Amino acid sequence: MNDQPVPTPSFEDLFAQADAETEVLLAVSRFLATHADESQGAPLTAPGLPEGWTVRDEANVLAASAFRNTYLEELHAGPSGFSDEEMRKLMIEASARLAELAYLRQAAPDLYAAFLVAYGSQYCRRWDRDATRVELKRRYLGPCPRCKKSVRITENFCPSCGKLLGR
Ligand SMILES: [Zn+2]
Repeated sequence: MNDQPVPTPSFEDLFAQADAETEVLLAVSRFLATHADESQGAPLTAPGLPEGWTVRDEANVLAASAFRNTYLEELHAGPSGFSDEEMRKLMIEASARLAELAYLRQAAPDLYAAFLVAYGSQYCRRWDRDATRVELKRRYLGPCPRCKKSVRITENFCPSCGKLLGR
């Protein structure tokens, strides 16, 4: 831990930093818009891969491993899960975005580095940097009094039979 006092930036500094970050994010959007044709199917250059792998193939694996086959799967399968169609939308759009970023990393590494810094500053400043697991305090309220199916803690109605859960 670092006990040095952090100097408080002025509003002018903060606005200038936000402007610079916005410029980087716009530059990334422009770059990806002008390379939309190749950003999904670009060959993936990484040692040890068989021929024919693309950045989208990498993105699909990352999306499956980091999102699809995680707690998201429990949410999907659980009593108030979202539909297969919604899961498909989530995964296709996550994979496509990951492929764009994998393409950016290969095609414009300096812009990619600037993107990481700007996006991290705007969205991930308060994100944990080393936690790997979170235990939920309480997931399920228990069985529905009418149909006995398990009900999530956040629900006001049983999603299976519609019973109002008076709490
Ligand atoms: Zn019920």
